[in-house]
Amino acid sequence: MRLILFGPPGAGKGTQAQRLAERHSIPQLSTGDMLRAAVANDTKMGSRAKAIMDRGELVPDDVVNQMVSDRIDQEDCRKGFILDGFPRTVAQAEALTAMLEQKGDKIDAAIELKVERAALITRMEKRVADTLAAGGTARSDDNRDTFARRLDEYQHKTAPLLNYYRRRGELVSIDGMQGMDVVTRDIENVLTT
Ligand code: AMP
Repeated sequence: MRLILFGPPGAGKGTQAQRLAERHSIPQLSTGDMLRAAVANDTKMGSRAKAIMDRGELVPDDVVNQMVSDRIDQEDCRKGFILDGFPRTVAQAEALTAMLEQKGDKIDAAIELKVERAALITRMEKRVADTLAAGGTARSDDNRDTFARRLDEYQHKTAPLLNYYRRRGELVSIDGMQGMDVVTRDIENVLTT
């Protein structure tokens, strides 16, 4: 099974992707996690990406496309994967379609989690408060200004992608304002119908 999870920051993509990955025994491919790992490991690509991520902007398409292409070539992705945070631009979607076509594959569904902007900001602030309360360090891009920029990037660059998948008949929209378990159930219902 090859799935894409779409949604603005804070929509619950990471949580749902993790649940789906566990349930279906396929890897969760989060480009945000891959980029944060590159930053933590202080690679050349990581140091280039860090400044962009800290501004809440998107890392260049060629960088993420290459990262995903290398990752889906790995053995554990043969039976499928859940893409979390990729594609985020039309150019990334086109690159993904081409990568999969080369292998004779295609995605099964692009799932959009719809959540209102005000709720996203509240969720981000709760995520920061919970992390700090647990003694952790908040993500450097989880602050009001950067988060607002991330929401705008989603609106301007990623939301137009929904039409790309709608035209291909692959888009499914789910109400992400519901509780986490209800969202998981709705996604599973889509996958079995
Ligand atoms: P995320 O963890 O998905 O919220 O991503 C955190 C940050 O990583 C984003 O704000 C972007 O700066 C960068 N990023 C993650 N995925 C992508 C992508 N597919 N294209 C461009 N930038 C990305």
